[in-house]
Parts: sequence; C-alpha cells; structure tokens
Amino acid sequence: MQFLKLNPPCLDEAEAARLIRLFPVEGELRPLYSERDQNFLVTGKAASYVLKIVSSQDDAASIDMQLQALAHIAEADPTLPVPRLQPAGDGDNSVSFTSEAGSAHRAFLLSYLPGIILNEAPLSSALLHNHGQMVARLGRALAGFFHPAAGRQLLWDLRQLPEFAAVIERVEDSTDRALLDEIVSRFAAHVGPRLKTVRAQIIHGDASAHNVLVDSTQQQRIAGIVDFGDLYHGPLVSDLAVAIADVLFNRDGTPAQIATIVSGYHSVTPVAPEEVDLLYDLISARLALSYLIAVYRRTETPGREDYNAALAEDGLAWLKQLKNIGGETLTRTIRAGLGHRAGGTASSAAGAPVDMDSLRRRRDRVMGPRMRLFYENPLHMVRGEGVWLFDATGRRFLDVYNNVPHVGHCHPHVVEAIARQAAILNTNTRYLGEQVISLAERLGATLPGDLRICAFVNSGSEANDVAWRMAKAYTGNGGGIMMQAAYHGITDAIDAFSPAERRGGQWPAHMRAIMPPDGYRGSYRYGEPDLGARYAADTDKAIASLAEAGLKPAAFMVDSTFLTNGVLEAPQDYLATVFAKVRAAGGLCIADEVQAGFGRMGRSMWGHQTYGVVPDIVTIGKPAGNGHPLGVVITRPEIMDALLDETSFFSTFGGNNVSAAAGLAVLDVIEQEHLIENSTAVGAYLKDGLKGLMARHEIIGDVRGHGLVIGVELVRDRASLEPAREETARVVNGMRDRGVLIGSEGQNGCVLKIRPPIVFAREHAEIVIETLDQVLASL
Ligand code: PMP
Repeated sequence: MQFLKLNPPCLDEAEAARLIRLFPVEGELRPLYSERDQNFLVTGKAASYVLKIVSSQDDAASIDMQLQALAHIAEADPTLPVPRLQPAGDGDNSVSFTSEAGSAHRAFLLSYLPGIILNEAPLSSALLHNHGQMVARLGRALAGFFHPAAGRQLLWDLRQLPEFAAVIERVEDSTDRALLDEIVSRFAAHVGPRLKTVRAQIIHGDASAHNVLVDSTQQQRIAGIVDFGDLYHGPLVSDLAVAIADVLFNRDGTPAQIATIVSGYHSVTPVAPEEVDLLYDLISARLALSYLIAVYRRTETPGREDYNAALAEDGLAWLKQLKNIGGETLTRTIRAGLGHRAGGTASSAAGAPVDMDSLRRRRDRVMGPRMRLFYENPLHMVRGEGVWLFDATGRRFLDVYNNVPHVGHCHPHVVEAIARQAAILNTNTRYLGEQVISLAERLGATLPGDLRICAFVNSGSEANDVAWRMAKAYTGNGGGIMMQAAYHGITDAIDAFSPAERRGGQWPAHMRAIMPPDGYRGSYRYGEPDLGARYAADTDKAIASLAEAGLKPAAFMVDSTFLTNGVLEAPQDYLATVFAKVRAAGGLCIADEVQAGFGRMGRSMWGHQTYGVVPDIVTIGKPAGNGHPLGVVITRPEIMDALLDETSFFSTFGGNNVSAAAGLAVLDVIEQEHLIENSTAVGAYLKDGLKGLMARHEIIGDVRGHGLVIGVELVRDRASLEPAREETARVVNGMRDRGVLIGSEGQNGCVLKIRPPIVFAREHAEIVIETLDQVLASL
C-alpha cells in the first residue's frame, strides 16, 4: 500500500518561475491544489496555462502515457474540451529537470480551461445529461488509444476494492462495517468476475466532479474535463460509475438523476444491458472505495490533511440511501430512462439523415393528408427536455406553447414515477389503489368545500363529457351554455360545446353561445364602465332563448383562459356574475381547467380562482399527467350520486396506477419547484417585456393574459383593429425558423399564443422577447 502515502513535489515559486522559462509562454504563477503532482496556474496576457510538475514517484512511462493520450484526443475529437499540450521551446511535450532539493522531476504545460467545478454548479437535468454525454465522448476519443503503462495498478481502480477488505476493521461504527463488508464481499464474489466480461479500454479513471468543469455563465454546459493522471486500462463503464458517484454523492442524488446521466452517456455511446446491470454495484464500489481509502489514510498518517475525508463521509451517507433504494429499483429506473430516450436520440446522435418527405408521405397515407401539422416547415421532434424540444437533426427549439409537458418535457421525477409504477402494477379502479386514492385526496385538498369526489378518465374531452352527463342528471335540464368560440373537446356531446372547431353542420338545438368578454375588440371595450356586468348580461339572452325552446340550462362550461377566444383577461367580476345567472336559472357551472389549471395562470392552482368563483364541477386534463393521459372530473358527492342514479360509471384506463403515479408526480414537482410562484413571476416578466415591444412595433395591438398564458394580438391598424392574420402566420413561422415555438389563436387567427411549460425561466422569456422583436422587425 505504498501508493497510499502521498509525497507530491514541492518547488517554490522562484523555481517554478525558472521552469516556465523553458516554455514559449509568459505569465504570472499561482499554486493550484493537487493530490499527487504540483500544479501552477500561469496567467498570461493572451492565454492561461497549467504548469504540471509530476511526482518523482510517477514512473516515466505513466507520464508518457498521459502526454500521448492528450495528443491522441486532440486528433480523435478535436472539439472535446480537454487541456491541450503546449510544447516546450525545444519542441518536446515535457521537460526533465532536477529541483534544488536534488530530486528529479518532469514538467509539462497544458492550456487552462476556465469554468467552475461541477460540484459548484446547480444540478439541472440538462447539466447531468450533458455530463453523461461528455464522459461518453471522452471514452470514445480514447477508444483507439493504447500504451503499455496502462496496465499499471492504480489506487482508484474499482477492481482494487477487495484489497481493502482488511481496512474495514478500522471503521468504528458496526453498522457501517457491516454495510462495507457486504459491498466488498459482493464485489469479490460477483461484481469482479462480471467486470471481466464487459468491454475495457484505456479510461480516464477519475471523471469526478472536481475534474469536470461547467461553463460559468451557461451552467448547463460542460466546459471541460481535466486531470489525465489516472489513466488506466479498465472497464469502460467504470468511468460512467465514477461520473455518477462523484457528482451526486453529496447532493442526495435520486435514481432519476442517475438515469439522466446514464441516458446522456447512452445518447453518445449505447450502454450495454450487462453494463447497466453493473452500475448500481459500481457506484456503490466507488463510494465504498473512497471511504476506505480515507479511513486508511486517517489511521496510517493521523493528523495529515486529506481532502478526500469529508467527501468520503458524504459518500457513505449516500451509499446508505442507495442501499435503501436498492439495486433493482435503480436499475429499473435507468433502463426506463434508456428505453425512453434511446429511440429518440439514436438517429440524431448517429447523424443518420431523416427523410422528412418520406415521413410526410407515410403520414398522409395512414392519417390522411388533411390532418394538420404545425408550421409551414413541419418539425420532426425526437426528444424533449425541460423547455426544450430537439428535432431529428439535433437542433433545439424553445418550447413556448406546449402546455401538456406542464412541468417540463420528460421531467425526471415524472418519468421515474411512471417507469417505477409501470414495472410494479398497472390496473384499474375496481381494486383499491393507493396511487389513485392519494391523487384524489390531493386534488380535493386544492378545492374548497365538498368539491372532492373524483371520477377518473383519460382526456379532457372525456372529463367534459362526463361533467355534462353529471350536470344533466343532477339538474334534470338539457340546455348548455358556452362561449362563442369555445373549445372543450371531441366527443359528440362536447363537440356541441366547441364552436371554435365546428365547420358548419347544424347548430345543436340545445346549445347557446354567449359573447366572450373581449375588452379589446368585443362590443364593450377596456375602460368602459360596468364591463363585467355588460358582457355577463348576454347570459340572460342565452337563458331566455333556451326557455323559448322549452329548455333550461343544465350547465355553463368555461375555460378561464378564454384561450380559443383569443386569450382574454375577463373583467374581474364577469365570471361570478355569469355563474350567478346560470345558477338562478337552475344550471351548474363547470370550470374546464384543461388549459387553465395547475398554476398556469399564476397565483393559484386553478384558473377559476383567478376570478374568485367556486364551480360545481371542475374538469382537468392535459397537464395533469405531464403528457401521460389523465383526465379527472371533480365534483360534490350529490352531483356524482345523481349520475350514479342514472348509470354506472367506470373507465377501464381512467385512474390506472401508472396514470395516477404520473399525476402525483406532477403535483410533487409543482410543490417542490414552486412552480405556481414561477408562473406568476416569469409570466409577469414576460408580459412586461412583450408590452415593451409595443413601442417599437405598431402591429402589436394588445398583450394580455395571466401567469404563463399570454396572448399578443396583431393588428394592421390600432384604430380599426383590422386583424393581421397573414402577418401572424408569418411571425409564428419566423419564430419557428429562429428556434422559438409559439402558436396562434383566436377567431381572427391574429393572436400569438404563448403558453410554455411552467418551468419557464426569465432567461427563456428573454429569448422569446428578443426573437419576437427580430421577427417583427423583419416582417
Ligand atoms: N378543454 C379545453 C379547454 C381544451 O383546450 C382541450 C384541448 N385543447 C380540451 C378540453 C380537450 O382535451 P383533450 O384533447 O385531452 O380531449
């Protein structure tokens, strides 16, 4: 165990300064920490470098390997951010010298990579994904490299773990001893032999958080990997295990975070199933090895500072957490993550050309050519992450209009919940189910009074259809009231509530549409008195008209974002006034929260709360499962009873365990990431920024909305309000071409629809404002 005793070289600065003169660079020297070598930062005018003085204990062949590996990577993957060798004045990559103390040393100079160490960066899923990708690229760049010194025995080689069995006795706590014993024995008996069957090559050997640099401004980007002093020939998957263990050990890393690193890795170098199966043991081995090395050093050389000691303690704590999670769960989560992403990224990562025309022809054949696609140049999306979508060429787009991936595309917590539950049980609500009951309880807790009975379905349309049936059963009436350009879904009954999408056909005799409270272009305008009451008065006409046909209202259905009416900000008292009129006429009020719910409108969980009303029935869909099909009708017990007096109610898939797990995970994320507050703050920031553009762009007539649902109405003339329909289409397509995805809405097709996942941040809002500014300027 000689190699455990550290003895780095220790030149003074004057000596180092003399040394740097052998290289064709100038700069100021500052010592940097190193466990085994001695390093100086050389800050020059044009560039900075790291002067590495390697230990006399390191044999010449190992140093030679390090230098050759860097030269090899520079050719194999020239854009990989690793240090580049700066040859000495005589053209050699290193210089040999004898220090004043009389010991022989070698030194070389490397370009300095700026950045913060990964340990200090916020761990976004994008960063973890990129970290995995970078480690995989490094493995690829080294794949064809060979050097005889790579067979050396190295302290941090995970295969050394059984050698540390004797150190376990020195651990004080008996539970810790038992845990370490179990890991080391398992490694010796099972893991070691299996490691002999997986691919091996020369690997980095220490892809730990202090050797990985993150861009200090774009903190999702890996800016570099440094320290090539631990190269050895070993299992390729070891580098991945270290990359995971050393980044997450002091952050209470979750299985989803681990899966994110692995899927990043997998998008560059597919991870073989047998390697996936080894990861749990290898991560545990790394943590155990770090801990035992620290224990050894502490007991061999007491009093000597060991930078690894604190890390090792945190590592042991995380090791216990991992043990509680268990290898099976972790492996399942990783597998789910890979299955999830493998298909998507394979084509783009491999650079395989995607034939869009052929895809379109095939789509036309099987779905019919009239089925609409977004954009003049349609997009073929293969991957999503947070607020970003990636197309098949690898180009990324800022997603500013998809409200289904409410907490961000492929949010790891939701992905993990779905994957975990799918691997355990997926059945229906005719059995007692923990997930669906918890989901109903948590949804009920967000609503006042007796609004707590949940009926589970699979889509917004279905939820509205069931709500309508409930309303008819409860009231005994048959009339329906909705907004003039409403959209509530696709079933036959709900199509009647959806004039926005109807193209002719007979007007359903039992339906009445009321005028939307559009203070910008409607009958009554912003600033006029009693706006809410005047718009709401249209309800009286609808009720009277139903009465003429011998009908009474069973329900009024409303989407609080008034999305298809062009994203409206209704007068504050409008909904309460309409609700009162409908109720007085014997009808129920249904809040369709498919668009407005889950914090979309900021400040509160549900859109109708923005207007201070309490509905009789609430329907939810789209965002409820973050993309997993989940619809829910929430109502009072007596209303559900009325339906059950007429019919039984059961939806085969509605409320299944997996959908319910997805729904619970969405609620978790909204709470844990404070997304309602985010929607309020970022929405306000975005709206202000968009309003700011009005001064420069006459075409913007109005900017409105709540939270993160914003409409920007484009007009040819601010006085006549002539709709700028063609221009709106050009803007939507122009934004798409610049990588920002928005949509359009409203009966005149002139309202830009801005409705991103509510994890949208200020920096994303700035991209929208800036890009819209450019596109409008180029019209
Ligand atoms: N209600 C509203 C307000 C909607 O916007 C939609 C979908 N756009 C629906 C209901 C229908 O939901 P789904 O497509 O899930 O059936």
